[in-house]
Amino acid sequence: MTDKPIFVTMPSLAPLDEYVELLKQVWESGILTHNGPLVQELERQLCNTLNLPHFVAVANGTIAIQMAIKALQLKGEIITTPFTWIATVSAIQWEGCIPVFCDIDPQTLNIDPAKIEALITPDTVAILPVHVFGNPCDVEAIESIAKKHNLKVIYDAAHAIGSTYNGRSILEYGDISATSLHATKILNTAEGGGCITQDEQLNEKLKRIRFFGHNDQKDVVEEGFNGKLTEIHAALGLANLKYLHNILADRREKYILYLELLSNNPKLSFQHSSKGETNYSYFPVIFESENLLLKAVEQLNAQNIIPRRYFYPSVNTYTKIVEYQPCPISVDISRRILCLPLYWSLSVDDIRRIANIINTLF
Ligand SMILES: *Cc1c(COP(=O)(O)O)cnc(C)c1O
Repeated sequence: MTDKPIFVTMPSLAPLDEYVELLKQVWESGILTHNGPLVQELERQLCNTLNLPHFVAVANGTIAIQMAIKALQLKGEIITTPFTWIATVSAIQWEGCIPVFCDIDPQTLNIDPAKIEALITPDTVAILPVHVFGNPCDVEAIESIAKKHNLKVIYDAAHAIGSTYNGRSILEYGDISATSLHATKILNTAEGGGCITQDEQLNEKLKRIRFFGHNDQKDVVEEGFNGKLTEIHAALGLANLKYLHNILADRREKYILYLELLSNNPKLSFQHSSKGETNYSYFPVIFESENLLLKAVEQLNAQNIIPRRYFYPSVNTYTKIVEYQPCPISVDISRRILCLPLYWSLSVDDIRRIANIINTLF
């Protein structure tokens, strides 16, 4: 038994003194929120780092999805994936829309574009895929379906800061991408998120929705709410952003090491990319059976190693909040997938130890 538990992730945090240095500016300005200077600076730096035209920083990733739905004025059915965090679907429902579940591709773990068209009805208004574990969706196939049927596309890009497609940030795709800056994500502001769009007018609308529907003259010009990020959170984001490139490189190295150590194991399989490049922010392993997964969890827990069953269960089976729709691939994968610990301060020795525990199981 090691003394300290090893969790599936630990937040990436800049040195405390660098955060405190930024907080001094907040104490000096007395500005805590309301699109303050640090929020604006965070947005600017994110645009520079990721080469984005705009970034609207918001209170969390769930609100970012809701704001995207609101900004596009969607009412009706939204085709989405059941292999996701519950927030994707609760955001759809909070905005008065109906989630329609499209099954996933067992290789990429993303929505299967080949299965989308069969689900389109006269009430369909949008497609809302997730770049699962940072693995970019087949954005070209999705865009061509959306164009053909006149649908909007919102990406849940909660995992996807640092992921690319055709050399561009994956956040550039879709009518709007919604990302998360939650503590567990690759870049964090403790709680936070953002909406990204190429469309100038949509970008302005998102800013108004974030601020009670006010325009620059403080007239209320549309239905908004409070989606603001605070200066305290923005300061943390600015401190952490300086290390994003190091963190991305570290994740990639560790991901590749895990894969080297585990890829010869015939009972395991792994997520595959289609075209884009993932940010390697998670290390999911798919076991041959749920039984093997449970054995692995038991052995790891006995060594004080706490992996997570992401995403389990498949969201189409949450029948207390959604109407059940069959998605056999998502349900099957959900039962057999486990995310292993992967974070900045995780040592190479720990990775070897974790891989060894799994390899010696069978
Ligand atoms: C984290 C996450 C969200 C929600 O983000 P929050 O910032 O926690 O609200 C949405 N979708 C997915 C896939 C996530 O992992």
